[in-house]
Amino acid sequence: MSRKMLIDGEVGNSTVEEAQYDFDLFVIGAGSGGVRAARTSAGFGAKVAICELPFHPISSEVIGGVGGTCVIRGCVPKKILVYGASFRGEFEDAKNFGWELREPIEFNWKKLLHNKTQEIIRLNGIYKRLLSSSGVTMLEGEGKVIDSHGVELTQPDGAKRQYSAKHILIATGSRAQRPSIPGQELAITSDEALSLDEFPKRVVILGAGYIAVEFASIWRGMGATVDLFYRKALPLRGFDDEMRTVVARNLEGRGIKLHPERNLTELIKTEDGIRVLTDHGEELVADAVLFATGRASNTKRLNLEAVGVELDKTGAVKVDEYSRTTVPSIWAVGDVTNRMNLTPVALMEGTCFSKTVFGGQPSKPDYNHIPCAVFCIPPLSVVGLSEQQAIEQANGDILVFTSTFTPMKNTISGRQEKSVMKLVVDSETDKVIGASMCGPDAPEIMQGIAVALKCGATKEQFDSTVGIHPSAAEEFVTMRSVTRRVSAGSKPKTNL
Ligand code: NDP
Repeated sequence: MSRKMLIDGEVGNSTVEEAQYDFDLFVIGAGSGGVRAARTSAGFGAKVAICELPFHPISSEVIGGVGGTCVIRGCVPKKILVYGASFRGEFEDAKNFGWELREPIEFNWKKLLHNKTQEIIRLNGIYKRLLSSSGVTMLEGEGKVIDSHGVELTQPDGAKRQYSAKHILIATGSRAQRPSIPGQELAITSDEALSLDEFPKRVVILGAGYIAVEFASIWRGMGATVDLFYRKALPLRGFDDEMRTVVARNLEGRGIKLHPERNLTELIKTEDGIRVLTDHGEELVADAVLFATGRASNTKRLNLEAVGVELDKTGAVKVDEYSRTTVPSIWAVGDVTNRMNLTPVALMEGTCFSKTVFGGQPSKPDYNHIPCAVFCIPPLSVVGLSEQQAIEQANGDILVFTSTFTPMKNTISGRQEKSVMKLVVDSETDKVIGASMCGPDAPEIMQGIAVALKCGATKEQFDSTVGIHPSAAEEFVTMRSVTRRVSAGSKPKTNL
């Protein structure tokens, strides 16, 4: 490392100390937030380096890969598997539309896995090219902070090198957590689930967050039996209770066995598979057990606390509104800060960081009106407040508008599955403060609704918007009658 060299010079009567570093910015972690910050900082003229571990496309042993969790072992491969799983329902629905499908319709897991892996390799290459065409220096290896301006890189061959930088950005993401029950090593996490050699015909899933319900839909869609165990009465804690009920009903309707208010107590390897024991005395045998029990920030091997970077009690990096840590030259964005752990949020934080540090435009990420989607089948998508959050946060009454309807396609296919939409409106301002939908295309529809909420649209403006007919989306602009009026602080009702 050309260690921080100080050049003393005289300007007028004052002494100027100008520090020279190898780079203006050294980014540790080339996932969504890190890559975005590296590229936008380079665009502002900064001299940038980024380090990342290499990855093996079909092994989950090595955590790494330019593109990060989203591209390598998260959103992208997951969505490809969701597409793969969705065909099952499409084939069922096609029959009443006149299609004669010859049985048995077979699913080839290895083919999908191969094609998925090829796509991930392609995207990994694109990310690398984007970085190099932006002028960012890419370094392969694991980064560790050694002081407020220094990073040590351990290369894949074990060799170590040191670099100095005016600013260091921690963008190392998060990794799956496992509950410590006997036999936990027999379970897999979403990392391995995306690259299993053999398709698991019998699956047990623990958890009921995004990953659990998405993988339940994926494996069920591909023909596996799926048993979903979770601690609460409903899946997807934190989402609108009414929509959680809808998701639970849909998962069951698609053949997933729900086991609410249950936990797993032990996993035992047998010749027939993994024997799964529960806290209610049940026993099942599975080919794969997925722990989808949350993720924790990747901070353990970074030496952060030794250089003065404070972590919170979950191990996440503490940052201020501009993503600056407790060491002024060290910053952090994305899942490693455990603010809102979504790819587009990491992108926003990365952009704001670059504008603040290199663009001369101090910018705080705006966490209001962030839409999100759970890609279960059919998907759930939301923006703004749930009914429960609205009741807690509002001063006056809340108006709730709901629409439960049979999607037009289901009238012919015969699928017994309704779509549900909901708008939550502040009665005093008439502003729409929350929207949710569970049904086909919900994420595609919700992106536009998010723009309306971000602009502060009122219910009157929703009502005066002309619908697109015939579509499910038009329901959002035709919900005329109030389903219920709820006072602040009262208990929300579910009337489905
Ligand atoms: P979540 O935090 O969403 O859900 C964790 C689930 O695990 C909860 O149901 C929780 O239950 C349960 N759980 C936690 N600890 C235990 C335990 N010891 N025993 C039994 N159950 C337990 O985590 P995920 O792993 O699903 O996802 C991680 C993050 O990744 C998400 O928060 C999200 O930010 C991101 N993500 C986003 C996606 C998207 O945008 N579509 C897709 C996938 C992931 P309880 O509710 O009882 O606490």
